[in-house]
Amino acid sequence: MHHRYDVLVVGAGGAGLMAALYAAKGNVSVACISKLYPTRSHTGAAQGGIGAALGNVAEDHWEWHMFDTVKGGDYLTDQDAAEVFSKDIIDAVYELEHMGLPFSRTPEGKIAQRKFGGHTRDFGKAAVERSCYAKDRTGHMILQTLYQQNVKSGTTFYNEYHVTDLLIENGRCRGVVAYDLATGELHTFHAKAVILAAGGYGRVFKITSNALTLTGDLMSIYYRKGLPLEDMEFYQFHPTGLAKLGILVTEGIRGEGGILRNANGERFMERYAPTIKDLAPRDIVSRSIVTEIREGRGVGLDKDAVHIDLTHLPREVIEGKLAEITDLARTYLGQDPVKDLVAIQPTAHYAMGGIPTDLNGLCLSDGQGGSVEGLYAAGEQACVSLHGANRLGTNSLGDLIVFGRRAGTYAAQYARQVEFADLPENPLRESQEMFDALRASKGSDNAATIRKELQESMMNNVGIFRNGPDMERQVGIIQELKARYKNVGVSDPSRRYNSELIEAMELGFMLDCAEAMTSSALNRKESRGAHDREDYRDRDDANWLKHTMAYKDLNNDGQVIIGYKDVALKGFTRAFEPKPRVY
Ligand SMILES: Cc1cc2nc3c(=O)[nH]c(=O)nc-3n(C[C@H](O)[C@H](O)[C@H](O)COP(=O)(O)OP(=O)(O)OC[C@H]3O[C@@H](n4cnc5c(N)ncnc54)[C@H](O)[C@@H]3O)c2cc1C
Repeated sequence: MHHRYDVLVVGAGGAGLMAALYAAKGNVSVACISKLYPTRSHTGAAQGGIGAALGNVAEDHWEWHMFDTVKGGDYLTDQDAAEVFSKDIIDAVYELEHMGLPFSRTPEGKIAQRKFGGHTRDFGKAAVERSCYAKDRTGHMILQTLYQQNVKSGTTFYNEYHVTDLLIENGRCRGVVAYDLATGELHTFHAKAVILAAGGYGRVFKITSNALTLTGDLMSIYYRKGLPLEDMEFYQFHPTGLAKLGILVTEGIRGEGGILRNANGERFMERYAPTIKDLAPRDIVSRSIVTEIREGRGVGLDKDAVHIDLTHLPREVIEGKLAEITDLARTYLGQDPVKDLVAIQPTAHYAMGGIPTDLNGLCLSDGQGGSVEGLYAAGEQACVSLHGANRLGTNSLGDLIVFGRRAGTYAAQYARQVEFADLPENPLRESQEMFDALRASKGSDNAATIRKELQESMMNNVGIFRNGPDMERQVGIIQELKARYKNVGVSDPSRRYNSELIEAMELGFMLDCAEAMTSSALNRKESRGAHDREDYRDRDDANWLKHTMAYKDLNNDGQVIIGYKDVALKGFTRAFEPKPRVY
């Protein structure tokens, strides 16, 4: 099957839907391809809110938001991106409101705002109410609102279609190939411009808050073409996920007075952060929990979790303000927060790195200003370098809206100016070969075993604490898993809804993302933001204030080559000395 659209969007989360909407405003034909039904995308899981300096509850300015973003990113944030973002997000939130998004309200009827970690007034002086929210369902509301708007603007949706290849020739993108889950057929989508918005890849880790489908497909497809992935070493862990499952436990649980305890019942955060204790920033709490577990004070069968204690709080608070998570703990762990301690452990949460783009969403092909004509990216899978080495809470939803909007606008503008470029001679060839190889293999290894080994080893060796020897070992483990992957057997021969085949394909994508991440992390010999090295404790601006660009060397058996890209600086220099560390 063959289709033709001016602009094609891959992914129907917040970024993809915003991009599709803005492309449609540009008077071009638009289609959106998604491996999920759009409103099932992970954006729907976001609870906390979307940060914008509206100043509805307390005085606020975009400059303060920009500063917080740069500081939160440990100065690796590109400051031009932070400036565009902090300015644009203000009217973007009003735009969402005008589309009908049911934000929570202040008593006088304005969009309500609440505090969130890292958001401050007056360049770091005190916390400020910046997060706009719709109860604890902000992401859900964004998805519903944007989906409705797309239906209205006539975007054509291809749901449950997996994109398997990008058609790039002579530096220009010409479309994509997608696999229709219902029929097992491959389709060619010919386009003038393509926007990638396929989300994160948290599934490379054993414990993650990310949905099952977040396997880094498009990052890997981009990387397989010899194109770079930026800053892959920076991956954020959230300190509190339900033990074993990784399901996110909101920061609000500590805000309401929850206390972290180790196997001895000790309130251990008193030792690591004597003043703010359990309310210390995400990275400090995550590292403290892992230290307790490593030193043998973990709880549970595998002693790899700690407890959160809410039993001293009134039942109304637990069942009222923390209703969602109370429900999840009761259902999935059989633990009732009203009377039981609940087991939690840090959970892999957010990818700061990804496909490099400029401020208009155009994909970059190197660190020197080269780009891929007609190819754009936005959302978690992209790296416009807004989040630098660590993302502030509520800044991802904003990123989707601001940079999704820009990618859609510029892709449509480009599509209006150019003719369709010819498709490669046999556009389906690479996808066909990939599926044939998976189907033909009679190997004894199955995808589930390799995936499990990948996830466990990534958690242990490239997780919250990192060091050279562990990461070197991980490079070897990934090579070995890749070799075994070549012989993975798919036993289900069916064409329709063959989820075994899809999972085997996704594992291939995950192995690439894990490889780029591990090599980038091994290469960066400093600690910065979420990248914490036990063997290089300090931040090193003299040598490492630069972005990593990881490439697959297509001429040399896929070896990883590391390059760099400058950080865009603009006014904010490091005002603070490296934090003293207690570990
Ligand atoms: C539990 C949780 C809570 C969060 N809370 C917040 C919060 O409160 N505030 C905040 O700012 N951020 C939050 N985040 C982060 C934020 O929600 C995500 O970074 C963001 O929603 C990602 O949006 P996206 O549009 O890039 O991708 P997603 O919403 O993940 O969508 C990805 C899309 O790509 C499609 N896709 C993927 N691969 C393919 C393929 N091969 N072919 C076709 N389609 C494909 C999928 O079908 C899907 O439609 C949270 C994240 C999680 C996991």
